[in-house]
Amino acid sequence: KEFRNNVKPNWCPGCGDFSIQAAIQRAAANVGLEPDGLAVISGIGCSGRISGYINAYGLHGIHGRSLPIAQGVKLANRDLTVIASGGDGDGFAIGMGHTIHAIRRNVNITYIVMDNQIYGLTKGQTSPRSGEGFKTKSTPEGSIESTLAPLEIALSAGATFVAQSFSSDLKQLTSLIEQGIQHEGFSFINVFSPCVTFNKVNTYDWFKENIINLDTIPDYDPTNRLGAMTKLMETGSMITGLIYQNKERKCYEDLIHGFRQEPLASQPLALSESEFDNLVAEFR
Ligand code: SF4
Repeated sequence: KEFRNNVKPNWCPGCGDFSIQAAIQRAAANVGLEPDGLAVISGIGCSGRISGYINAYGLHGIHGRSLPIAQGVKLANRDLTVIASGGDGDGFAIGMGHTIHAIRRNVNITYIVMDNQIYGLTKGQTSPRSGEGFKTKSTPEGSIESTLAPLEIALSAGATFVAQSFSSDLKQLTSLIEQGIQHEGFSFINVFSPCVTFNKVNTYDWFKENIINLDTIPDYDPTNRLGAMTKLMETGSMITGLIYQNKERKCYEDLIHGFRQEPLASQPLALSESEFDNLVAEFR
């Protein structure tokens, strides 16, 4: 309850992003966080508004740049739980370079992508996640590009936590976000989040018909990276649940010599007040 604020989301009624907001709030409460122990960093897009809708530290950054900011926040204050969030356009188009390097760096943050397979805020253009043949005002004859497969890319880049969920499955999504927060490293959670206004193909009903929940595959082993990649390729990446987790690899912070000492954010300034003012003045 304490992660709710008084800001009324201006997402369209029925947008999948509402459930993701609720899942983050529930997961944060369930793992025992306090609002001043959480920072939510977002990019640009309908999804980018989420940082303003959660009672925690928040920063609505620039397009595709939620991850550099989130990593900076975490490295300055490792005592904060940091969640970065954005849409598929934000994270897999303009922000893709950051996404890959954040994954392989393995800073201990959670990245939640609200994947609606279209650009919603700019009123419905084809995104990297749109299917082949997908018709929008930017591809009136249908997209001729292949669809990006972010989970396979994440596995290839050395991800230590890869999950996928559906905004309609609040129970699974909340559980995965909890696991992501508790994972000691970069956790990547892709969430199918229907855009009810502009995407008339990948609807709630379409996802319900096409998703395969890993809970229905009893022998699935999320510690097997090759098995995870195979299952993604076999299913066209339509699986939901915990797809892969590697608890052995240390996170970035643990590999920096001396980093486990006092967080930068709580260390005293090495400069006097006037020296600090002069330094700041140089950047004005
Ligand atoms: Fe959600 Fe689409 Fe509306 Fe944006 S345009 S708020 S993604 S339904």
